[in-house]
Amino acid sequence: MPDGTGRVVFLQGAVQDLPQDARMTNLQNVAGGCHCGQVRFDVKMDLTQPMIACNCSICGKTGGMLGFVPASQFNLHAGRERLTDYQFGKKNIHHLFCSTCGVRPFGQGKGPDGQEMYAINVRCLDNVDVSTLKVVPFDGKSL
Ligand SMILES: [Zn+2]
Repeated sequence: MPDGTGRVVFLQGAVQDLPQDARMTNLQNVAGGCHCGQVRFDVKMDLTQPMIACNCSICGKTGGMLGFVPASQFNLHAGRERLTDYQFGKKNIHHLFCSTCGVRPFGQGKGPDGQEMYAINVRCLDNVDVSTLKVVPFDGKSL
């Protein structure tokens, strides 16, 4: 299967794997950003839910650990102009990265119902020890 054909399925699978009733519990406000500090955002997310470690062609190389939130829970407040949008395959997902430091703090795409979603790289959150988070592997490579 050509690179990228599974990207939407990836997003859908990851979102659907989360228990529906648990998705909105334990929401907390966390801030995050890229390494150089030009890209900054706030997000409301539940850090008790399992995060996604994907082995697809891009996640495998960049090592992101992802948590998914609807667009209404995400606020980019600095650095929009610093972001470069990388797309491949079917180009359904925006793999954004800081053009100065190269870090990928989040990606953007659509969920199963067409809703705008953000995939937050939880490694880019302030004051969050990723070793304490639950992580589930996701076999994006096989899609
Ligand atoms: Zn940066």
